[in-house]
Amino acid sequence: MDGSHRHEVGSPEETIYESLVRKGYSRRDFLRFCTAVTAALALPAPFVSRVAEALETKKKPILVWLEFQDCAGNSEALLRATKPTVGELILDILSIEYHETIMAAAGHQAEKSLADVVANHKGNYIAAVEGSIPMKDGGVYCCIGGRSAKDIVTEVCGNAMATIAMGTCACFGGLPAAAPNPTSAVGVSAALPNIPVVNLSGCPVNVENITATIVYFLTFGTLPPLDKFGRPLFAYGKRIHDNCERRAHFDAGQYVREWGDEGHRKGWCLYEMGCKGPETFHNCPRIKYNDGTSWPVGSGHGCIGCSEPAFWDGMTPFYERLPQPPGFGVEATADKVGLGITAVTGAAVAAHGIGRMITGKNTRKD
Ligand code: SF4
Repeated sequence: MDGSHRHEVGSPEETIYESLVRKGYSRRDFLRFCTAVTAALALPAPFVSRVAEALETKKKPILVWLEFQDCAGNSEALLRATKPTVGELILDILSIEYHETIMAAAGHQAEKSLADVVANHKGNYIAAVEGSIPMKDGGVYCCIGGRSAKDIVTEVCGNAMATIAMGTCACFGGLPAAAPNPTSAVGVSAALPNIPVVNLSGCPVNVENITATIVYFLTFGTLPPLDKFGRPLFAYGKRIHDNCERRAHFDAGQYVREWGDEGHRKGWCLYEMGCKGPETFHNCPRIKYNDGTSWPVGSGHGCIGCSEPAFWDGMTPFYERLPQPPGFGVEATADKVGLGITAVTGAAVAAHGIGRMITGKNTRKD
């Protein structure tokens, strides 16, 4: 297909490719985008043409973005990509009909937009949810336009083609669900157990995983394969530890012992400083954040396990080392390791020290 427009500019029938061309992207930009998304999906190179074909022929999917108990960090993640990246292009592959933070409308007008999508596109739109949902006292702790978050999410997600939970609060409750969880905050799948939900956990979500999930859906007509926590395997199939740039130092027994020490300056492993990478599943080391510039471990701080269901309570204290990370070896999966994380509090009692792991345990495949 060449760059000519087959449909009226900006019409609902406009394809994703047409929209990109209209925004000034070249055919080469488009193919680079398809290649990047295919790589993010961990698909082999031959799938690039299939992704390209889907984006050339499919209409921009309608998306509504709901926001509840959160810090808006996931909206920030969506908006803060810089050009020309996959993250930025998401604004051109979606028709975002409702998003309180970025939409021009406000008040009754905004709520009407949401009601219109539900009424006119039932079963044909994607719902994105940011933030947790309070269940206590009838949901009074988070209300928008006089309706509780639970009421809104039940109606909007219940009538959607699919729901994507953006960030750990929407996936598993996150920080609002930390003890004593005064509002009984839960994630979308716990609030609505019978609807299809893809969990894109992380604090915040990585925008490139949003793009890849939607492109997967457009390309294959189905949601991507998920782990037992509802997270796409392409993004959460491997532990941080398995792809970490400091892994060689872990295996060599070279650990940072104090912030700013020689090992820290040399980029050694952060396990002793509380890194939760051995029990955390996410593709951070591969795609990083901020358009691939860096990620927490890369910039010298241990992983805090923000993409796991156990976050927050199960990952604190952040600066105590894990007592005994399960599942060493690059073949570990979320299903094998599972939650595997009890409270790390009291990690000092751990008898299984690093020395033991690096002298025979670190190559074991669980
Ligand atoms: S413990 Fe943390 S810093 Fe060390 S290799 Fe594993 S993920 Fe990387």
